[in-house]
Amino acid sequence: MATPIYQTATFEQEHADSFGKYDYSRSGNPTRRVLEDQVAALENGTRGFAFSSGMAAIANVTHLLKAGDEVLADWDLYGGTARLFGRVLPRSGITVRYVDASVAGNLDQEITAATRMIFVESPTNPMLRIVDLKATAAIAKRHGILFCADNSTMSPYLQNPLDLGADIVLHSATKFLCGHSDVTAGILVVKDQKLAEDIYFLQNAEGSALGPFDSYLLLRGLKTLKVRMDAQQRNAALVAGFLSQHSAVGDVFYPGSAKHAGHSIHQSQARGGGAVLSFTAGTAAAAKSIAERSELFRISVSFGSVSSTISIPVKMSHASLPAEHLAFRPIPESLLRLSIGIEDAEDLIDDLQHCLDQAQGATAG
Ligand code: PLP
Repeated sequence: MATPIYQTATFEQEHADSFGKYDYSRSGNPTRRVLEDQVAALENGTRGFAFSSGMAAIANVTHLLKAGDEVLADWDLYGGTARLFGRVLPRSGITVRYVDASVAGNLDQEITAATRMIFVESPTNPMLRIVDLKATAAIAKRHGILFCADNSTMSPYLQNPLDLGADIVLHSATKFLCGHSDVTAGILVVKDQKLAEDIYFLQNAEGSALGPFDSYLLLRGLKTLKVRMDAQQRNAALVAGFLSQHSAVGDVFYPGSAKHAGHSIHQSQARGGGAVLSFTAGTAAAAKSIAERSELFRISVSFGSVSSTISIPVKMSHASLPAEHLAFRPIPESLLRLSIGIEDAEDLIDDLQHCLDQAQGATAG
């Protein structure tokens, strides 16, 4: 009923000149393989790969490129991804250019002879903008370049980018796939056989695969993905509705809301609004006050846990953004990102009501 944890680095062989399916856990481990196969099935791919973190998975993808190649990326990316793109890739002669990929035509216009990959999140983090994945995939295909979609905010339960034409789907499995804030892990899933071979070669060559115990924890998390997502998403819709009516709140960014700018595209490519949302609170001081007053939302980076969290992206998850990136990246200082958990929705709303009322009173005073 539970996948055993093959907590072994090496596997004894019967012969010295021919080997069984597993010989060394960097190259392959049975617990990890069950996880990789399950996530591949969830994303309707043919092969999955588990890494020691989401960033290790993203690094693997970038190693498919070579000096002189260029990545075209949407500007609203997780801060760590932007750091890798801005400060690590140039060391290998790979450049990254940013566009507003929520307008698919922008990508088409910006592709050059050097462009080898399009990289986007949808919904984006932390502005929850929507990128039309089908239209983006069509552009990538037309130009013969790779399209990698970070699906961390949705999970495979709510969105399957490979079905929409993406070549590689990526997850920070630290988020919803795990669901309990106790594993850092990354996942890649592909359909194409040659791409699978290239990614496997890099995973083994670079030694970035996930360990057996963490693979086991993720397998355990996957068992409840549907019930967690259903509960978290239900709560998120209620919280978004509450926030949009409170006078201390400016804009609410939740793709599940009919008022969201990308709502109709999101609905056409996903099966729900998810459980991550963000909103502006007027001033940076008000945002800090709200986050620090909350009793149920814990101040924490990351998202996707069964426990609700609150964060100020410009100070936390996106603080690592290179200065030149921040210059054109409009993340409001007063933006708060919420990841909604499985607590009682009324409790969450009562807590936010209290924080917002207090912050408003303090500002008015
Ligand atoms: N992609 C997104 C959208 C993220 O939010 C994160 C982390 O927050 C990552 C990738 C990186 O994943 P990890 O933290 O597991 O390395």
